Amino acid sequence: MKHLVANWKMNFVNLDAWLQDFDLNKISDEIKVVICPNYLDIEDFYKKSSKTHKKILIGAQNLSSETEGAFTGQISGKMLRNIGASYSIVGHSESRLHGEDDETILNKVQTAFNCDLIPILCIGENQDEYSKGGTEKKIKHQLTENLFPLKNLSKSVLIAYEPIYAIGSGIAVQNEHLEEVSLIIKELVRDNLGRDLTLVYGGSVTSESAKNLAKVDGIDGFLVGNASLDPKEFANIAQSLE
Ligand code: PEP
Repeated sequence: MKHLVANWKMNFVNLDAWLQDFDLNKISDEIKVVICPNYLDIEDFYKKSSKTHKKILIGAQNLSSETEGAFTGQISGKMLRNIGASYSIVGHSESRLHGEDDETILNKVQTAFNCDLIPILCIGENQDEYSKGGTEKKIKHQLTENLFPLKNLSKSVLIAYEPIYAIGSGIAVQNEHLEEVSLIIKELVRDNLGRDLTLVYGGSVTSESAKNLAKVDGIDGFLVGNASLDPKEFANIAQSLE
């Protein structure tokens, strides 16, 4: 099963207009479509989409590492689940930039499980690490710190490989690089968890770049930021995954 995930970040999206222009008929039943609006729009989008676009699944862009209690300004995974979310992005590079450390991210993945949310764990190297040949080291570090300690995990989890320099830059990575990294991730996951996990790529995916990126072995879908704000463009990206 392939995944197509939209990360709307903190953009203002007219939910009715977006849904009106998003043609689910263009998208194969073999693709799970997950939309991650901002927290405040989740419930509204869930209600609206379940009337006209039942196939859409909802994700949050983050969650608290705690489930309940005196944590001012935090949002519980349980609350997100109660308003229609079934996924949550965890460890996006834009959240890591604002102070999320590895231990917090590990706790968030665990909390997502506890709250019956499927975590979409984002990992990836920055430009400097890439230039110095440090991609494998960074990927291994993040998986070892953010996921593998949860050894007995039998629940669903998605890994999103998002090289930081590709996010929002308009330039997706080359297929050769993606192929190499996909092999590294799949092997590490198999060795540590004894099974395969869904792996999606994120970073300047458009309907144009998706045609090429979808040819890479081991890529089970895309996490799309900017291009997902345009429902027609987003639906066109799905076509590459068929
Ligand atoms: C993202 O932020 O997760 C992302 C993939 O963004 P973009 O598609 O805009 O590069």
